[in-house]
This record gives sequence, C-alpha cells and structure tokens, in this order.
Amino acid sequence: LSWICVYRATGPTDGFLVRDWLQRCGLHPQLRGDLSGLRGEIPIRESWPSVWVAPGEEPAARAALRQLEGPRLVRTAWTCPRCGAEGEPDFDACWNCDAERPPEPG
Ligand SMILES: [Zn+2]
Repeated sequence: LSWICVYRATGPTDGFLVRDWLQRCGLHPQLRGDLSGLRGEIPIRESWPSVWVAPGEEPAARAALRQLEGPRLVRTAWTCPRCGAEGEPDFDACWNCDAERPPEPG
C-alpha cells in the first residue's frame, strides 16, 4: 500500500499547519519534503512540503481538509491569460509577463 498525497503546500508553513490539523482530527499524517537547502536548484514550489496519509485515512483526511477552509488553502495554481505561464498560487501577478491574475472561478 502506498501513501497518498492529500495536500501540497503552497507556502512555507502550510504543510505544518495541515499536518497539525489532521493530527488533531485523529489521523496519522506524514509531512514530506523540507525547507532546508536546495533553494535555487529546484523550483521553489517543489521545495515546499506535502502531506501524506495512509490509503485508509484518505477520505477522513480530505473531509478534514475541507473544514480548514483557510483562504490560502483554496488558492490554486493558475494559468496566465496573456502568456500561458503557470502562476504561483500565492502570487497575484504573472511572474513572466506581469499580467494580473484572473479571478478565481466560482
Ligand atoms: Zn504571463
């Protein structure tokens, strides 16, 4: 059985917050990835942690994540309407051409 990634951090602290929340919900999440080193050698997004759970805990973990509903947690990656570059979830302008981020769908 392989573990399932239920959350990929969009910032340096999200992963810890999510892991702590899932633990408080009685689950046994694992935080993978860490912040030390490697910056500049790989895309920053890849150096942020992700949260994993055992397959049996996935439904409960996803339900718990929905309860979190922090504004940061609902932000997703986006695509720049002008140049097609993938925007960072936390940025409000395109890193490539400085176009403004389109509104969230819905
Ligand atoms: Zn752009």
